[in-house]
Amino acid sequence: MVRVIMLSPPGAGKGTHGRWLTQQTGAEHISSGDLLRAEVARGSALGRRLAEYSARGDLVPDKLILSILMPAVVAAARKTGGYVLDGFPRTMAQALRSARWGLELGLSSDAVIYLTAPEEELISRLLDRAQREGRVDDTLDVIKHRLAVFTRETEPLVDYYRDRGILLEVSTDRPEQEVRADLRDWFQARGLISPGAGDASVVSGAAGAVADEASAVASEASA
Ligand code: AMP
Repeated sequence: MVRVIMLSPPGAGKGTHGRWLTQQTGAEHISSGDLLRAEVARGSALGRRLAEYSARGDLVPDKLILSILMPAVVAAARKTGGYVLDGFPRTMAQALRSARWGLELGLSSDAVIYLTAPEEELISRLLDRAQREGRVDDTLDVIKHRLAVFTRETEPLVDYYRDRGILLEVSTDRPEQEVRADLRDWFQARGLISPGAGDASVVSGAAGAVADEASAVASEASA
C-alpha cells in the first residue's frame, strides 16, 4: 500500500491528483484543508480559532494541525494501510514530527509528489475556483499571501525530501493526462502500483498490525 505526501503550492493540483492517486491505489485521501474546513463548519470553539488563520491565508499552528491530522492518519492506516496526504506537512516542524511518527508506527512515506506550475497560472486557477466554490481564502490578496507562505514555510521541504530520495517533481502546467502518465510510470517503476492498478491490484500493507500503536500516538497528539 502506498503512503504518499502531496506537496505543492495552492492551485498546483494536489487535491485533483491526490484523489486520482487514491482511486489508483486504494490508499485513503486525507486533505488537511478539508479537515480544517469541516471543523470550522461544525462551529466549535476550535473551528472558530482555525477559521481566523485560514481566512487570512496563514498556516494554523503546528500543534493544532498535528492534533487534528494524526487521528485521521491513524484511521486511514487502520482502514486501508496507506494514505495520500494532501496539504500536510507544510512546515519543517510538521515534516520532522511526522517522520518520527512514521518510523514509530511503520508508516513512513514512500513518495512525495511535488507539483509545480507558474505563479500566474496558480493565481488564475484559484480565482476560477473562487467562482465555483466561493472559498473565503480564494481572493487575490489572500492567494498572494498563501503563495508567499508556501515559499517561506513549505518550499524548504522540497530539498528535505529530495535528499531522502523519495521526491518526484511534476509540472502540472500541461494536460492532466500527461501528468497522470508521469505519475503512473513513476509509481509503477517503484512497484508502488501495479500495471493496470485501480482496485484490487494494490500492493498490500500492514494496517492492522500498527493500529494499536497508532492509537497511542493519536492520544499523545490530542493531549
Ligand atoms: P488547503 O485546502 O490545503 O489550501 O488549506 C487551506 C488552509 O488550511 C491553509 O491556508 C491553512 O490555513 C490551513 N492548513 C491546511 N493544511 C495545513 C497545515 N499542514 N499546516 C497549517 N495549516 C494548514
